[in-house]
Amino acid sequence: MVANSMSFLHEAANEYGFESVDEMLEATIFDSVSPAICTRGCGATMDLEPDGYCQCECGGTIKSVLLIAGVI
Ligand SMILES: [Zn+2]
Repeated sequence: MVANSMSFLHEAANEYGFESVDEMLEATIFDSVSPAICTRGCGATMDLEPDGYCQCECGGTIKSVLLIAGVI
């Protein structure tokens, strides 16, 4: 995992009120929706399917944290 991905994961965990990235991933992996965050760094978040991604308004891509973490 590259350092950049880790900072997005930290940001998403923070945004969604999880204590840590690990806690967020553990909670998400058994759920049908996943927190997702823009990987261009604009800070946009949304709920997506665990393997989901979406075009962001900034022109970047919003990806589920599981995709960013490389868990799935
Ligand atoms: Zn964006």
